[in-house]
Amino acid sequence: MDHAIQEAELIPKRASKQRFRHSIFEAWGHNCAYCGNYADTLDHVVPRLNGGLTVKYNLVPACKRCNGNKGHQPVWAWWTQQKYWSIPRALRVLAWVRRQASQNAEHSWAHLPPERLPSGNPSEHSPATNCQ
Ligand SMILES: [Zn+2]
Repeated sequence: MDHAIQEAELIPKRASKQRFRHSIFEAWGHNCAYCGNYADTLDHVVPRLNGGLTVKYNLVPACKRCNGNKGHQPVWAWWTQQKYWSIPRALRVLAWVRRQASQNAEHSWAHLPPERLPSGNPSEHSPATNCQ
């Protein structure tokens, strides 16, 4: 995939914000993830008030009606009450979240505990070795 790096962006820069949003709409064919209608907004699957982040794995296209109806409710509590509740669409949302989240797992390297860092070659780095 030639745009893997863009998809891994955690916080889109202002200049790439449109591209970031567009890539999400495009991946879903501009369809609302919840009801399948034309989507013109992005919904935080986990609402921001509940700690949801503005990252690709927490964003799906949503029509204005779904986005407005859902508000800050937990996604399953709200969605399963709708007449357009759909298991196949729910599975698609889950697959989307998992796929996007695993791409962001590339950033997990940055959380490597210090004691697990490779020791490297001490002789080449002796001035820094004793640096506390
Ligand atoms: Zn909708």
